[in-house]
Amino acid sequence: MTEGPLGEGTRAVRAGLPDPVKHEPALPGPVFAAHYHLPGEPTGPYAYGRDENPTWTLLENAVAELEAPGEDGVETLAFASGMAAISAVLFSQLRSGDAVVLPDDGYQALPLVRAQLEAYGIEVRTAPTGADAQLAVLDGAKLLWIETPSNPRLDVCDVRRLAGEAHARGALVAVDNTLATPLGQRPLDLGADFSVASGTKQLSGHGDVLLGYVTGRAGEAMTAVRRWRKIVGAIPGPMEAWLGHRSLATLPLRVDRQSANALAVAEALAKRPEVSGVRYPGLPGDPSHEVAARQMRRYGCVVSFTLGSRARAERFLDALRLVDDATSFGGVRSTAERRGRWGGDAVPEGFIRLSVGTEDTEDLVADVLRALAESAG
Ligand SMILES: *Cc1c(COP(=O)(O)O)cnc(C)c1O
Repeated sequence: MTEGPLGEGTRAVRAGLPDPVKHEPALPGPVFAAHYHLPGEPTGPYAYGRDENPTWTLLENAVAELEAPGEDGVETLAFASGMAAISAVLFSQLRSGDAVVLPDDGYQALPLVRAQLEAYGIEVRTAPTGADAQLAVLDGAKLLWIETPSNPRLDVCDVRRLAGEAHARGALVAVDNTLATPLGQRPLDLGADFSVASGTKQLSGHGDVLLGYVTGRAGEAMTAVRRWRKIVGAIPGPMEAWLGHRSLATLPLRVDRQSANALAVAEALAKRPEVSGVRYPGLPGDPSHEVAARQMRRYGCVVSFTLGSRARAERFLDALRLVDDATSFGGVRSTAERRGRWGGDAVPEGFIRLSVGTEDTEDLVADVLRALAESAG
């Protein structure tokens, strides 16, 4: 890495690139290898493909540079998906008899994780993300799991405060940084031990790859996460890792455009009488805004709001032309869905999660307002 205070755009286009080699591409192509030439004593990193891969290494260096710029001794481990990364932290750090604190309004697979943790004799406590409510159930816990902004209701908690209290009680702290991305929030700077994310969302940003990662300071805890990846084999394919790395170069552009678009859409929706509960952490006046402004540099691409009924929400989604009806978020093309169709999240029937893409702002706002008008029925 070049010395000096480089801007984020500059860092992102160079993150994780090896030193230039004559006649070689700047970002070497994916290395497809189940095993590597290894005569004699098995030394060095690359022996077997479940343990290490040079394409992962480049991606991991890049993500570490974005999650903790300029900090030495921070490492990233790439995983097959966000859930692989989340499971790796939880199951490598917790033992039977330990207690863990999860959010009760986080990613929709967390209840499944909870059942599995409990089956292994781990005590699971939950509390909402908003108002730092997890503080109240922290005593004696081994690990605090934070998701901020929470998905899909977009509440925010004070990571610095929660991490300080958790550490004072001897607990480790992990933050799900999927929604914010490392350009929106840097959990390690805010005191967390792990920043964990799905790379499937805005990090890769094109809706065509599943990836995950765990970033933390080198040490016992990260060694356990690495061992877990090896045991479970939840490893990314080299092609996916390479696509993820290639996508990082445009992350600042995408994140800036998507946050600007999300704010514009949230502002437009907030003015409409038929729309209630518009949430966007970047919206001045949003219940999350004050805390978000202290710890986030960009507020993400997800806006949520509620229409009067399930039927109205479905008519709205049908009427959209520039927004695909699809789950997930973070891609360059806007998507929206009626979240209640999955069950699980505690949201009203007319609750919509809208992921704002990189379209031109005026086009997107016009499409959303037109679909609202047409859905009046
Ligand atoms: C999507 C998501 C995950 C899971 O990621 P996958 O790549 O789908 O396994 C975890 N946390 C959050 C906040 C997510 O949005």
